[in-house]
Amino acid sequence: MNYTNPNKPTQVQLARNLIRQIKRGHAWVYGDALRSIPPVAPGSPAILLDNRGGKEIARGYLDPDSPLAMRICSVQSGETLDDRWLVRRLEQAITLRLNLFPDSGNTNAYRLVNGEGDGLPGLVCDLYDRAAVLVTDGEGPAGFYRIPEIAAWLADRLELNSVIHRYRKAGTSAADLVVGGSDTGNIEFRENGLIFTADLIAGQKTGFFLDQRDNRRFLQPFTAGARVLNAFGYTGGFSIYAGRSAAAHVITLDSAAPALEYASRHWALNDLDPGRHEIVNADAFEYLDQAARQNQNWDLVILDPPSFAPSEASLPAAVKAYTRLVSLGAAVTARSGLLAAASCSSHITRQMFLEIIEQAVSDARRQATLLAVRGQPPDHPAPLVMPELHYLKFVLLKLD
Ligand code: SAH
Repeated sequence: MNYTNPNKPTQVQLARNLIRQIKRGHAWVYGDALRSIPPVAPGSPAILLDNRGGKEIARGYLDPDSPLAMRICSVQSGETLDDRWLVRRLEQAITLRLNLFPDSGNTNAYRLVNGEGDGLPGLVCDLYDRAAVLVTDGEGPAGFYRIPEIAAWLADRLELNSVIHRYRKAGTSAADLVVGGSDTGNIEFRENGLIFTADLIAGQKTGFFLDQRDNRRFLQPFTAGARVLNAFGYTGGFSIYAGRSAAAHVITLDSAAPALEYASRHWALNDLDPGRHEIVNADAFEYLDQAARQNQNWDLVILDPPSFAPSEASLPAAVKAYTRLVSLGAAVTARSGLLAAASCSSHITRQMFLEIIEQAVSDARRQATLLAVRGQPPDHPAPLVMPELHYLKFVLLKLD
């Protein structure tokens, strides 16, 4: 069995002294940091040599056409990236999750493998009860990891009924069913005792935003008796938690109509009173703007938009968009109400996000108290030395 690309590794040499960063766990080497990039197939294994005497410092695989030319899989000299290596990393990832989620009756959906954070660069696996979604982040990972073989291993190890592979193809997202039947459109799972469902093939990301689990739980006590506006609500994650803790009324707002149908279904699946939930299919900016003009307000406003900054180049426009959004959110937050704002753009650092929020609250002529700054949960680990992978920011404010 080959779980990874079995070709003989090619040697590549650093053009700059990045040895310390790499030894500390930074898993990315950009093309401009290499002397030359051989024209091998994406995902070909490689040995990285230092920029001086040509001593081996790490092993990984190449993606010659990507700016991210090499991903590091091991800094142990001479370690082969074979089946034993891969299975060891998978077992370590599984052990961490079993420690994090000992009660599968309470939570049985989580990120089983988070790429670089689990020592498996470019490979993600989200588990939804007895189904899993494998994601390869580009051509390099797709050429390095043997997805059908890994899917079969996971299915066997974790008694899965289905495994799906999601990847990008010609600029759009594609999905293949690698293991099992075709009933993956409506997988039911539990998160903190609540029931959700997801479409693992057509849903956004892998079907559900598992990375907000702890933040949803964190907000829950603040929602009792509150009028809640969950903007960018997707399939109602934050809404259902609020409903369960007796929020007075919850609006789930999203621009995607299919997601809102799921939100209604989740509300019903959790036996919540339909009179306390409303779905609104709208653009959040327009809705908030209009609500602000009409002096509407909510006790808790949640803003969890998609990434506005997918690249470094889009950063200035993204900062503007976040500032405007948070400012609109502050304008419709009741006196002594709460505003929760999240950003999943890796190009926006925690510090930048706090500055954006400060500006936005000031633009809305409000004063705020900072209650919490949070991030991604421990099933989404990342190397300490890779702040670009500490992507999720979640800030809770109390407004005057
Ligand atoms: N909070 C959600 C995840 C949100 S993901 C959860 O906990 O599950 C971001 C959502 O924003 C997506 O559902 C997407 O459809 C929606 N979206 C994107 N642009 C939007 C816009 N301009 N107005 C409203 N919703 C938007």
